[in-house]
Amino acid sequence: MPRVLALANQKGGVGKTTTAINLGTALAAIGETVLIVDLDPQGNASTGLGIDRRSRRVSTYDVLTGDVSLRQAILETAVPRLHIAPSTMDLSGLELELAGERDRAYRLRDAIRALNAPSSDRNRNEIDYTYVLIDCPPSLNLITVNAMAASNAILVPLQCEFFALEGLSQLLKTVEQVRSTLNPQLSIHGIVLTMFDARNNLSTQVVEDVRQFMGEKVYETIIPRNVRVSEAPSYGKPVLLYDLKCVGSQAYLRLASEIIQRERALRAA
Ligand code: ADP
Ligand code: MG
Repeated sequence: MPRVLALANQKGGVGKTTTAINLGTALAAIGETVLIVDLDPQGNASTGLGIDRRSRRVSTYDVLTGDVSLRQAILETAVPRLHIAPSTMDLSGLELELAGERDRAYRLRDAIRALNAPSSDRNRNEIDYTYVLIDCPPSLNLITVNAMAASNAILVPLQCEFFALEGLSQLLKTVEQVRSTLNPQLSIHGIVLTMFDARNNLSTQVVEDVRQFMGEKVYETIIPRNVRVSEAPSYGKPVLLYDLKCVGSQAYLRLASEIIQRERALRAA
C-alpha cells in the first residue's frame, strides 16, 4: 500500500496546493511513484499540473460518489512517475449529496484501498504508487474529513505571517477527533513553513514561535517566498520543471528528502 499524506489547513492561501504539486514532483524526481489526489473544487493542483478542464471528464467527484474507481480518474502529467486524479467544481456539492450515506467519510479511504486490488480490468501500464498526496480544500468539511480518514498522516503548511498559528489548534482538534473515531492511526507528519521572507523580521519571529509551539514536528526545511514558485502554475508546470535551479525548487527537493528520512525512521522504529 502507498503512504498516504494529506496537505491540510483550513486557511486558504497557505501553500497546500503549491506544496502538493512541488513536493509530489520532488518525490517523483528522486524515484518515488506519486499520485496527487485533487480534493479542492477549485482544482488548482490540476491546473498547476497542466490538466485542462476538458480533460477532466472523470474526476475525484465521480470517485467519491462511487461512480468510478480511483484508477479511472487518474491522468499522467508532464512529470515522469507523477500522476493526478483531477477535480472539478462538482466537488462543492458533494457534502449535500452524501448526507445520510453511512460510509460517507470513508469514500476516499476505500477508493485508495481498491487501487492495488487485483482486478481483471487493470491494465498493464498501471503503476503502484509509493506516495499518495491529497490536496485538501480550505475548510474542515466532509471532503477534508475524507482525506483525514484515508491518510496515514497529515502535513500542515503554515504561511510565515502574523496569524500563522491562528486556526492551528482547531485543525489539531479535528485531527484528534478523526483519530478517535474514524482513523486511529492518523498522525501529524509535520508542519512545513512556507513563503518565508528573510528580509522580513516578522517571518523570522513566526518561525521561532511555531518551533516553540510545535517543536520537532516542524520540518527543518523552510520554503522561501520565491517568485518562480508563484509563476510556474500559470505555465501549467511544477516549479521544478519551470526553473530547477531557483531557491523554491531546491527547497522542495530538500523537503522531499527530509520526508523520506522521517518515513525511514518511522519504519525502523
Ligand atoms: P492553498 O492551496 O493553501 O490555498 P496555494 O498553494 O494555492 O495555497 O498558494 C497561495 C498563493 O501563494 C498562490 O498564488 C501561490 O502561487 C503562492 N505561493 C505559494 N507558495 C509560494 C512561495 N513559496 N513563493 C511565492 N509564492 C507562493
Ligand atoms: Mg489550494
